[in-house]
Amino acid sequence: MLLALLAAAAIGFSPADADLAHRTAAALVERHTPRDPGTVRARNAALFIFDAVNATGPDARIDRFESAVASGGRRTFHNVECDIVTDASQPWVVLVSHYDTKPGVECPGANDGASTSGLLVALASRIYDARPRGLNFRFVWTDGEECIRSYAENDGLWGSRRAAARLADQKLEVRAVLCLDMLGDTNLVVTIPHNGTDALKPVVLAAARRTGLRDRVRLGRETVTDDHVPFLERGFPAIDLIDFEYGGEPGRNDWWHSTSDTMDKVAKESLFVSGRLVMAIIAELGAL
Ligand SMILES: [Zn+2]
Repeated sequence: MLLALLAAAAIGFSPADADLAHRTAAALVERHTPRDPGTVRARNAALFIFDAVNATGPDARIDRFESAVASGGRRTFHNVECDIVTDASQPWVVLVSHYDTKPGVECPGANDGASTSGLLVALASRIYDARPRGLNFRFVWTDGEECIRSYAENDGLWGSRRAAARLADQKLEVRAVLCLDMLGDTNLVVTIPHNGTDALKPVVLAAARRTGLRDRVRLGRETVTDDHVPFLERGFPAIDLIDFEYGGEPGRNDWWHSTSDTMDKVAKESLFVSGRLVMAIIAELGAL
């Protein structure tokens, strides 16, 4: 425990890391809006993330796949992945953020997609440099989290279904899948939706307490459809970390899936909080 504490204190997540997360999110929004699932624009956003990850040290790859689309035809999707391997015999921690935007609404997806995609770039860079590392890491930036009409077999969650299937095929031992979504909101309250692996919830709360962020984290009673669901369905321990209150007034969510989801609503300070929390969770899992 003391060792874990010391390691977390030494590794952490710095204001400079939050700055990288914020800059990456801003550039993604500026250059690649909108990023509809399974489109050329989404592919170009994937290439942007690929370059951003490689620029910080770790090696990224693009996982290109085709899938049927409930609204008709097939589309080509692009996940970005990055493995940081410490010791192949050890379990894995998987971190996930979608980068696509809600189709049909010209949504910049600054908070919903870009914020945590930038955060994941900064986390990958931080963990790549971190020593010692106890576990292996896979980072996945998913295409096609957003549904075109409503969530169904071939509508939404394409990228996470693909990533979960690949993990299962590779028979990797997974200690935790952490899905991050909408964590750049100026008024940040991180919710752990009800539909997540129960054993992981106290791990998050302990990490929040340890970093003085307990008042920023709540256990939700609601069920949320997000990228963690396909991992749960495959039997992997998985949770979603999401702030699903994103609007002009408390209790409203009117900036979500709208043209108002712009970078002025995304605070570097919130990405700093989210990054510290995730690094503490990872330490709590014995991975750092
Ligand atoms: Zn969304």
